[in-house]
Amino acid sequence: METVVFFQSSRLISQNLPKQAVLLADISLEDLQNCGIRGFIVDLDNTIVSEDDRYVSPHAESWLAEAKRRGFRCFILSNGKRRHRVEYWSRRLQIPAISPARKPFPFSFYKALAHMQISPQEAIAIGDSRHTDILGAFLLGCRCIQVASLPHPPRWWENLFGGWVQFSCPPEVLLWPLEALAEPEEVSL
Ligand SMILES: [Mg+2]
Repeated sequence: METVVFFQSSRLISQNLPKQAVLLADISLEDLQNCGIRGFIVDLDNTIVSEDDRYVSPHAESWLAEAKRRGFRCFILSNGKRRHRVEYWSRRLQIPAISPARKPFPFSFYKALAHMQISPQEAIAIGDSRHTDILGAFLLGCRCIQVASLPHPPRWWENLFGGWVQFSCPPEVLLWPLEALAEPEEVSL
């Protein structure tokens, strides 16, 4: 009987979370809390910051700060090989990181869970790539949300297969929010 109750509750829990979100900051921390999530495994490149360092995901830093304030544990897993860069973001965000994490292999995911002292059922992986972040979460048995990939110079394989594993962030709407600015004065000629 208990097994049935667990199955029903876990199914309800999964239904409450979206599979995708455009931005990291679009994910409701309240919903995560209500679904029993206690920690995130979050990707860095094109999820928090574009891999060419031109764009930070809007409101990502304040969203992560609020998450920590609410008691969520956070860990960055990056496949990036520029360790100083990952270390910079790890210090700036005050979130521990592993790089290169070699996602989707599960070894670094297990290290992140051990550091956060949570189970796979209490974790959620968030990232922009199906073949690394989302597949890694699947292999680990934890929930996941795919976010849109921040604009970045495409690699050769992304030109061929990027549309299969990522979806794009609409830059004109999200990275340059015109509504936050005053309109310029009209100029008559
Ligand atoms: Mg990424």
